[in-house]
Amino acid sequence: MKNIVTYMWITLFSLCFVYAGFSPEKKPVEVYSKETAPKNTTVVKKGVITLDAGHGGYDGGSLSRKNLKEADIALSLTMKTGEILKKNNYEVVYTRTSDDVAWENDNRQDLLSRVQIAKDANADCFISLHLNYGAYYNDGARGFEIYIKDKEELTTNMAKTLETNLQELNFTQNRGIKTTQENPLLVIDENNIPAMLVEIGFISDDKDVAYITSEKGQDAIANALAQSIMKHPL
Ligand SMILES: [Zn+2]
Repeated sequence: MKNIVTYMWITLFSLCFVYAGFSPEKKPVEVYSKETAPKNTTVVKKGVITLDAGHGGYDGGSLSRKNLKEADIALSLTMKTGEILKKNNYEVVYTRTSDDVAWENDNRQDLLSRVQIAKDANADCFISLHLNYGAYYNDGARGFEIYIKDKEELTTNMAKTLETNLQELNFTQNRGIKTTQENPLLVIDENNIPAMLVEIGFISDDKDVAYITSEKGQDAIANALAQSIMKHPL
């Protein structure tokens, strides 16, 4: 009798094991949980933008009265603008993301390398950021300027929107939209895609620099630039 009871216990115990083996918990583990599953892998990019922070490396650009470099200010604005564009499903290709540059110490080669980066990326549009400078510090020259290729439709529309957006920030003067017909610029003229160069303000003007280098100013300008690009489909 004792043997039978022992046998029954062993059988019951074994059945529990067998049941456990087929219990729902032992189902093959799914590779992706709902949280980690790739959501929508077919997000359509709205286009490729090459953002070009002017100067860099051997060329710091112009200097503010307090020795801030145009290259650094332009880079900071460029990176902030790129972040907004990336969040809005644009592919952003930078010509540089630090003060290290891929090109040699040669002004023409420098500019042509930037154009080549846009070509290699099959970019839809090229935007270059700079700061202007006057004859001497605080000589009264201040404001933003936008350069485009004459009669180029996309950048004409973007420039008009940007002009309005920057004017609304009310930090400096509006020096208008200019074409490379009167002011040849290699990064615009050598590009075979729509290209625009923006002089955000004057690095020689203390008031322009104060706004452009403030956190509030940087965010507002980056937003004005990104919104102007996003408003016009590529
Ligand atoms: Zn410059």
